[in-house]
Amino acid sequence: MFIDSHCHLNYKGLIEDQQGVLERARAAGVETMLNISTRASEWNDVIGVAEREGDVWASVGVHPHEADTHPDVETETLVERARHPRVVGIGESGLDFYYDHSDRDRQRDSFRSHIAAARESRLPIIVHTRDAEDDTHAILAEEMGKGAFTGVIHCFTASADFARKALDLGLYISISGIVTFKNARDLQETAKTLPLEKLLIETDSPFLAPVPHRGKPCEPAYVADTARFLAALRDEPLEKLSTATSANFRKLFAKAAA
Ligand SMILES: [Zn+2]
Ligand SMILES: [Zn+2]
Repeated sequence: MFIDSHCHLNYKGLIEDQQGVLERARAAGVETMLNISTRASEWNDVIGVAEREGDVWASVGVHPHEADTHPDVETETLVERARHPRVVGIGESGLDFYYDHSDRDRQRDSFRSHIAAARESRLPIIVHTRDAEDDTHAILAEEMGKGAFTGVIHCFTASADFARKALDLGLYISISGIVTFKNARDLQETAKTLPLEKLLIETDSPFLAPVPHRGKPCEPAYVADTARFLAALRDEPLEKLSTATSANFRKLFAKAAA
């Protein structure tokens, strides 16, 4: 059994056949999925899936790409929405300086409001970071100094150095299908060394279909392929990896396990 710790069930590519997507995930041994928000306008729909489906949970947050279109996302709003019994995480939030779809200072402000919401609601923050390692770490470390919070670096593609710093802050690291790509040598080397007790797995579907599904829309069922690849890469039995990553998910997203 596997847990997909990060998917977008309401995105184009999955929404058209959402029931089929959920059925195929269950058939592939996916016991739990976390449906991630990226904009305020989708919160109701993202939570709605989690209300209907017992094995789906939800997050509330605003993606760094959307920081410009949400200049007024306040911590209190996030905390309020996070009181919903099916909402178990804050995000995804963070910094994306690769695409720079939003002003960098707006991204930083939004990231800090999300961290404050995570701290206040005692829910983990789901962190997106791309080409922004130093700034991401600086904000996480500074905010951790103001008061503890938990979280996960999702779809991890950063350096081994950043991984170590994130682990030092007590954060978890989630590996997506990118690890199966032929050109992901550095990530594969890093993934081999990550401590099993801090590891999560995810699809980030409908994006990033793992080998052997490249070219198709990704879906939660494929988290099983990423798990198989990762177990072989780390020279661990699949059973051990899947049990540990599921237990880690329940520990971090404790509201989903309660
Ligand atoms: Zn992301
Ligand atoms: Zn995502």
